[in-house]
Amino acid sequence: MSEEEEFDVIIVGGGPAGLNTAIMCATRHLKVLLLERDKLGGLLATLYPNKIIPNYPGFPEGIVAIELVRNWLQHLRFTGIIVKQETVLNVTENLMVVTDKKKYRSRVIVIATGTKPRQLGVPNELRFSKGHKGVYYFVSHPEEFMGKKVLVVGGGDTAIDVALELLNLAGEITLVHRREGFRAFDENVEKVRKSGMVNFVLKGEVTAIKGRHRVEKVVIRQGGKILEPRVDAIIIAIGLVPNNKPFKNLGLKTDEHGFILTDRAQRANIEGIFAVGDVTQVGLRLITVAAAHGAIASHFIYSYVKEPYWTREAWPTKIDHTP
Ligand code: NAP
Repeated sequence: MSEEEEFDVIIVGGGPAGLNTAIMCATRHLKVLLLERDKLGGLLATLYPNKIIPNYPGFPEGIVAIELVRNWLQHLRFTGIIVKQETVLNVTENLMVVTDKKKYRSRVIVIATGTKPRQLGVPNELRFSKGHKGVYYFVSHPEEFMGKKVLVVGGGDTAIDVALELLNLAGEITLVHRREGFRAFDENVEKVRKSGMVNFVLKGEVTAIKGRHRVEKVVIRQGGKILEPRVDAIIIAIGLVPNNKPFKNLGLKTDEHGFILTDRAQRANIEGIFAVGDVTQVGLRLITVAAAHGAIASHFIYSYVKEPYWTREAWPTKIDHTP
């Protein structure tokens, strides 16, 4: 390994939160390194590039996810931020970042690693989730589902958005949810109900996926009944789990699901470590919230690194995590 490079800020993760933190830190003339293991743009680039984001302020008609990412990249291009495609393996207590290629030192580390879809954990799920064999966690290319029998699992915004996106496109849509009530926006649930194109299986639980070489059937337990509908695809949209593996050894405070606790300045409980976006225990997982986290964090990062005369506080010894 070559000699360690030093930065003011290292941001781990290049999704909306990471990109916005980087842009806002660069406007403060901090020396920034952004590390991303896959594609810049996070889930917007990998899972739903073609989705129209309906609720990012400033775009009354909505904006296609990948377009939003391109705008951020355009902004990033002239800032002097160093961007590297490397996987972070570990972060040490003295703020050394170890990647698959190098080691770096930094005054501040910002965790912006986001989330990944939660798995159902049923037989054949993993076997059929790669190579288009019928298990999906999001609709990246809606045209793939044209005329198909699709089963969607979940009762949150992702599941309901998937059902809405496939109306008039899929041949048959069944929505399986383990309760009668939904977490998703009421208005969208109503749109799905009123469409008359979606079969609801409520208080239902998918217990297995069946098929020889790809998905053919799904087993659902509903009360005392067992249903085995034939399906071409199952889209599992049952929530998100945090990408926090490289930080496990740091002793970061998290909630019971592993989402990182921060204070109002986006500071974690360890000096020099901030966390932004969906990986934090944020009340609302929206792109606009992730972007706002970047703005908040950059302000306090500047104050921590540069110590201007108006810096009011050292890293608090006890961080108040109450929202
Ligand atoms: P979510 O809100 O956490 O909902 C997950 C759903 O899956 C819940 O209905 C949950 O049931 C169910 N579920 C969880 N584990 C399950 C299991 N093992 N088996 C069966 N069902 C299970 O997740 P999400 O829909 O992915 O949304 C994540 C976040 O992104 C939310 O904050 C959401 O508002 C936001 N989001 C917003 C938009 C938008 O603004 N249009 C779009 C997508 C996502 P219970 O209800 O019983 O827990």
